[in-house]
Amino acid sequence: MDKDRKFQCPYCGVGCGIVWVDGKIKGDKEHLATKGELCQKPVYYPKVMNKRRLLKPLFRKSIHEQFKEIDWEDAYNIIEQKLKSLTSEELYFYLSGQLMTEDVYVINKFIKGFLKTNNIDANSRLCMATPVSAYKLAFGSDGPPCTYEDFEDADVFLFAGSNALWTHPVVFKRILKKKLDNNNIKIIVIDPVKTETAKRADMHIPLRAGTDTALFNSVLYLLYKNSWIDYEFVKNYTDRFEEAIEYALNYPPSLVSNICQIEEKYIHELAEYYAFSKKLISMWCQGLNQSSQGVMKNLSLINLHLATGRLNDKGCPFSLTGQPNAMGGREMGYLSNGLPGYRDVRNEDDRKFIEGFWNIAPKSIKTEPGPTITKVIDLIHDENIKLLWVVCTNPAVTLPNLNKVWKALEKVFLIVQDAYWNDTCKFANLILPASQMGEKEGIMTGSDRTITLCEKCVEPPGDTKIDWVIFKDMAQRLGYRDWFPYNSSEDIFDELKMVTKGRLCDISSSSYKDLPKRWGDKWLYKDLKFKTPSGKARMYPTKYEHKEGDFILLTGRTKNQWHTMTRTGKSPELLKGEEEPYLLMHREDALDLGILDGDYVKVSSINGDITLKVRFGDIKRGHIFAPFGYGLEYENPTNILTTEEVDPISGEPDLKFTQVTIYAKDRRLATYEIGG
Ligand code: SF4
Repeated sequence: MDKDRKFQCPYCGVGCGIVWVDGKIKGDKEHLATKGELCQKPVYYPKVMNKRRLLKPLFRKSIHEQFKEIDWEDAYNIIEQKLKSLTSEELYFYLSGQLMTEDVYVINKFIKGFLKTNNIDANSRLCMATPVSAYKLAFGSDGPPCTYEDFEDADVFLFAGSNALWTHPVVFKRILKKKLDNNNIKIIVIDPVKTETAKRADMHIPLRAGTDTALFNSVLYLLYKNSWIDYEFVKNYTDRFEEAIEYALNYPPSLVSNICQIEEKYIHELAEYYAFSKKLISMWCQGLNQSSQGVMKNLSLINLHLATGRLNDKGCPFSLTGQPNAMGGREMGYLSNGLPGYRDVRNEDDRKFIEGFWNIAPKSIKTEPGPTITKVIDLIHDENIKLLWVVCTNPAVTLPNLNKVWKALEKVFLIVQDAYWNDTCKFANLILPASQMGEKEGIMTGSDRTITLCEKCVEPPGDTKIDWVIFKDMAQRLGYRDWFPYNSSEDIFDELKMVTKGRLCDISSSSYKDLPKRWGDKWLYKDLKFKTPSGKARMYPTKYEHKEGDFILLTGRTKNQWHTMTRTGKSPELLKGEEEPYLLMHREDALDLGILDGDYVKVSSINGDITLKVRFGDIKRGHIFAPFGYGLEYENPTNILTTEEVDPISGEPDLKFTQVTIYAKDRRLATYEIGG
């Protein structure tokens, strides 16, 4: 390659711009969103990108046999035969927020438009499905309303259920830097764990896991009781204020301090921040999203912004995206209900438009969303789904109740399309080797809507193929050559950008040459006209349901690992200090139970058992924490324990609240819940 190449970091959703210079990674100082800032994770990417790669298609009839290398022609023949012998409703496709937007667009088009099934979901179901639902309910469309530029003049930054210093380090460090120059800037963290993020906060609210909605309802109660509502904003730009307030009045601080197990003063101080700060940005992540009450948690936080008029110049609710291109996947409608350009299969106009755009027969697109990935595990057990095609993700570690998941993966005809040998490959019948970031071209969208062109830096190894090419080849084999004529990723980009024309995420005037570029203005709702039927944003009565339990454990990430360690776990530098999974416990809780720092304990839930080494830490009493990303080679994936409960609106699993029991030295010691 004769010039420096640029792409977006393949890890978290901050979307940092990267320059590849002679096989080394540097921050892209010209990048619109992140201006050269990087954390250490991508620095080691060139060293790990070829470790344990899949290089040839592999096949075995049954998972009790050894894999045999086959060529692509044979692999395509096997898939073609399967696709033709099964009905569309017996197929299921599970995608990833690590794919590029062009990949997602082609795959989604093939499945929803030509296989004529909505049996497709993405790992955003475990991550961002909740804020997608909440944004649609509150603002009428998905899409974070503000951008990183809003950090410049904000004076209060709230992080709810987010250990951003570890999970979105460039965002958090940018705020810390501002705070060094201006001590009036305040950081608030709401989390049952005193995380590294919380340690740097001006106010840490160590609430009981799962009680966020009660907390935010109580803040709304105080805003109302103290006449701190922005009534002009509410009257002109919101609907359903009265209903939201009427419900919030059930949550006086005296009651909520007990529910959340926090001092009442925190609720009052939080209300004052929403009432009196200059500009307040509320950021949140999986602590609010991965919950059986996740949409209510999201909406209760958004309610505070709407009640105080905190949009645009006065602040913003801002969900931090988990994966590098979950935003691009959402724009292309890769969840089971979506269609490209923030459209929905349930909307007749949306279906008609896309059928016309794809030049397919009317009524080709099914009117109901397909099942979510968690429901599909049951459908496999019931023999309703017979082929599962997993693209660039690792459900054998990330889905809840893994014992049940593994049995399903053993039962279904499983295709794994990935760059790496991951845990899910152990259950596969057919493995398709894919190329990855740096080996192909395409676009990705970061958390603040900035789209980056990811350039090719190196030739892909072995017989790997680009993800969209694999699906284009299959579509052409099935007779849809004219509908999938692409010769390059830019051909796909030229098509997909037109599907966004006139939509909130309009990129129709963009070209590869003018990226990075953000879609939407700095403020998505600059004119305070929302995508709802009335044009107003909507507030909601946000129901809180109390869950009983003596003890709560949180699941989450470690500092240096991303995804399920398929890349970061192969870097000795990143693995240092994180070689082994652990169970974080409050010292007093552990000692009360006769457990010492470094002891191994057995943790059990109704779904199974795991053994973990105890580490004493600064976590709320009655809570424990275990990272989820350690795979089968560590023997103890945390998700063996987690509950199958999901949010009723978003379908996102509750990976933050499972009741467990702890045993040490053959003695039953205590009953716990796992939460986040
Ligand atoms: Fe990559 Fe996220 Fe680190 Fe930026 S903050 S360099 S996107 S992992």
